[in-house]
Amino acid sequence: MATLYESRREQMFPKLTAQQIARLELHGRKIRTTAGQVLSEAGESHRDLYVVLSGSLEILRPGMQGDVPITIEVPGDFTGEMSTLRGLGGFTRVRVAEAGEILAVSEPQLRTVVQTDSEIMEIFMRAFILRRMGLIAAEQGGDVILVGSTNSSGTLRLVQFLTRNTYPFMLKDIDTDEDAKECLAHFNLSSGDLPVVVCRGQVVLKNPSNAEVAACLGMNPQLDAARIRDVVIIGAGPSGLAAAVYAASEGLDVLVIETVAPGGQAGSSSRIENYLGFPTGISGLALAGRALVQAQKFGADVAIATSALRLSCDHVPFQIGLSDGQTVRSRTVIIASGAEYRKLALDNLADYLGLGVYYAATAVERTLCGDDEVIVVGGGNSAGQASVFLANNGRRVNLVVRADGLAASMSRYLIRRIEETPNIQLHANTQITALEGKGRLERVAWRTGANGKPQTHAIRHLFLMTGAVPNTEWLQGCVALDEKGFVRTGPDLHVAGSNTQSGLPDGWPLSRPPLHLETTIPGIFAVGDVRCGSAKRVAAAVGEGSVCVQLIHRLLSE
Ligand SMILES: Cc1cc2nc3c(=O)[nH]c(=O)nc-3n(C[C@H](O)[C@H](O)[C@H](O)COP(=O)(O)OP(=O)(O)OC[C@H]3O[C@@H](n4cnc5c(N)ncnc54)[C@H](O)[C@@H]3O)c2cc1C
Repeated sequence: MATLYESRREQMFPKLTAQQIARLELHGRKIRTTAGQVLSEAGESHRDLYVVLSGSLEILRPGMQGDVPITIEVPGDFTGEMSTLRGLGGFTRVRVAEAGEILAVSEPQLRTVVQTDSEIMEIFMRAFILRRMGLIAAEQGGDVILVGSTNSSGTLRLVQFLTRNTYPFMLKDIDTDEDAKECLAHFNLSSGDLPVVVCRGQVVLKNPSNAEVAACLGMNPQLDAARIRDVVIIGAGPSGLAAAVYAASEGLDVLVIETVAPGGQAGSSSRIENYLGFPTGISGLALAGRALVQAQKFGADVAIATSALRLSCDHVPFQIGLSDGQTVRSRTVIIASGAEYRKLALDNLADYLGLGVYYAATAVERTLCGDDEVIVVGGGNSAGQASVFLANNGRRVNLVVRADGLAASMSRYLIRRIEETPNIQLHANTQITALEGKGRLERVAWRTGANGKPQTHAIRHLFLMTGAVPNTEWLQGCVALDEKGFVRTGPDLHVAGSNTQSGLPDGWPLSRPPLHLETTIPGIFAVGDVRCGSAKRVAAAVGEGSVCVQLIHRLLSE
């Protein structure tokens, strides 16, 4: 089968026309080259993009077994990849094959070009994205070798981290791959050191954290503690990425801080089918990848594997303490840290997400179930509503709760409705113990009572309505939260308490009312799932993230 390099070669390595090169000359400087000269090394940050004017360049991928040639570039060709645009460590060595002349375009100049010349922007962006995909598809991970067992959670965490950050790597599975043992021997390692990450064939990390891998690979921009940003966004889920794209495209100085990888919860969805404009659906990973590229095209900085640990909100600029010990400062802050659905403690739960396991019970999921019997887990109102909704075509619904019954956690009207619906069966004191199925969920086991024996049932649909926990612990009391820990904004601040004379929420310091997505602290906003009363949908999160930028403009001009 043709590799991606072969099948999409023309788009991956397109030629610039004489007119396009003439336009680029306004942003670059001409340099004479000599054969054998290395113009940039793998791992170097802030690399220039080179356009070949005469002579030729070799693009090589350094690896433990020597250099792998990727392509030879001749006049009209250009170097570069997504990392060039971000100023991060690149993957290739650029060496002069035949002496001649090149046009060097620096990272800031490159950013100006992609923001101002739409024709060249399209050629560059498509080539950069495809070149990254080519590196990933070819598993040319000489940069990163991950040695571990795909049956270990530590290895899977690192696989997920690198994959969700679209970083090319080579996985050597100790259970199936002879090379894995050779690799361990080469670096004097034992199986007790696994999982191991080898960065650029030189640095060996034993069971590293995501942050250690990110630091070793230069995946993050250098942060300047003295710089006061216009906006710092905490969280790179759909809401945070949308805010980053709109803020950066409108000229604001933006930094995004993300604990794991862009995409948030949506990043774990195999197919989002209800997001406008994607009639056949789009994977969360693809959506996040596109949004990240878009944000970076406009100049947003994104730091991954970095958490916000503290927010100091008593004066402007606000200060955000990060997990790597640094502090960043900003005139405004967008809290986009989302929520996490409570998960069942089952190792293979993630394998069935969207393939029989669902966190929402809308018409989409109901259609997927056809007439099949389903299980709903949870004792709250969302579980009750889901059970009634799924039961209304006569489908059999098993409502599974750990407690003795529903009285303590569900509204009375829903309990009555469940009691009156004969095709809903309540299983109290019951816990799900196992999920089974090849490629999708086919069977579910549950146990009733502490000493009950697990029973396996051929049920293919499991709805987890066990509630979401907002990621707000890092706010440490800075802004008002609702009783479940979600951030109150705009109109919801009145619910918390109003000064009847002024019509403003209690404690609100300004004469104007809080803006729609503003928290109890002017200049600090909350968007997406972390916000109390939000819709908990991708489209809603994206909408709030983009609307918030208009409010920030209004505030910065006050
Ligand atoms: C499996 C699954 C499938 C889904 N499918 C759909 C669907 O098909 N359609 C739909 O409309 N919706 C779907 N949803 C819901 C949708 O994904 C969410 O509504 C949406 O992702 C919310 O976006 P958000 O940006 O507000 O928050 P999140 O997506 O939760 O993102 C928040 C981000 O903030 C980061 N973060 C948290 N705390 C910190 C911190 N202290 N410092 C730095 N970063 C932090 C997190 O790592 C995360 O990346 C699905 C959800 C799940 C779990």
